[in-house]
Amino acid sequence: MAKCPACKNVVLELSNFENSLPVMNCNSCGGSWLRANEYARWLKSQNPGSFEEDKTTEASKRFPVAESNKASICPDCGHLLRKYKIGAKVDFHLDRCNNCNGVWLDKNEWESLKAADLHDEINQFFTNPWQQNIQSKTTASKFDEMYLERFGYSDYQKIQEIRKWLQENPNRNNLIAFLLDKDPFST
Ligand SMILES: [Zn+2]
Ligand SMILES: [Zn+2]
Repeated sequence: MAKCPACKNVVLELSNFENSLPVMNCNSCGGSWLRANEYARWLKSQNPGSFEEDKTTEASKRFPVAESNKASICPDCGHLLRKYKIGAKVDFHLDRCNNCNGVWLDKNEWESLKAADLHDEINQFFTNPWQQNIQSKTTASKFDEMYLERFGYSDYQKIQEIRKWLQENPNRNNLIAFLLDKDPFST
């Protein structure tokens, strides 16, 4: 019998998403175990929308999601579940077994994904390009916060405008030299 990876000793029970996608549900924490073959079968009956990255930010706005940080074990094959971020600004992860490709969704995670129309794109989150993209976005937003704090809002806005203008300007090296010269009007 498959047990809840979060509650450990609660047995999962057959339920479904959307009345057509079988999942194994935990009646204690409300999480759901989604098996790879069931999901693949269900996906064939869907018409996936276009995958837009902006939608991931939406996914964390709608439903409160509470997840634990504890390591958890695949209810089917006993491998450790790996946590995957789904977007740089999304505050929850999906837990996935890289052995049988099953996915654990904490309570409301499916609803959040569905609200952002991402529930039929779950497999995207586990690809390398997707994860790398999140990594670079996360780094970029950390720098953004750091500069904002260092410069203050209005100076940061201004310096970004100047930077953009310089970058696009073919004469930028001379302009920068002029800018940095203590007295550009003397030899
Ligand atoms: Zn549970
Ligand atoms: Zn597994």
